[in-house]
Amino acid sequence: MTTPLDPAAVIAAFIDRVSPYNPHPDVAPVAVIGVRTALGEDVFTLSDHVIRAMCRALESYRDPEDRGNCSNCGGRHLDENLHCRDCGQLHGILGQVMAEHARRVATTGEDSP
Ligand SMILES: [Zn+2]
Repeated sequence: MTTPLDPAAVIAAFIDRVSPYNPHPDVAPVAVIGVRTALGEDVFTLSDHVIRAMCRALESYRDPEDRGNCSNCGGRHLDENLHCRDCGQLHGILGQVMAEHARRVATTGEDSP
């Protein structure tokens, strides 16, 4: 379940948070973005400083479900244990540690790290 979100309010808050640090507050706005949702409609004029900040924020966003690509099949649906839902491959340090541990247990019978 997702919490209710007012995108226009979020954008307004972002602008408030970032614009005090605009090194050139006297330069005219360079971008206009409009947001229309069920909650209403807003148009924001953005300075170069704010639109750059917004682009950086968007570029750095990753979906919480995005854990990279499977090196085996290229699938993009790794679960929280980095286990590929498409082909079953196990990834990352955890996958390596588990595979090594399983190998050690198999060869020595020892079950401690
Ligand atoms: Zn896979």
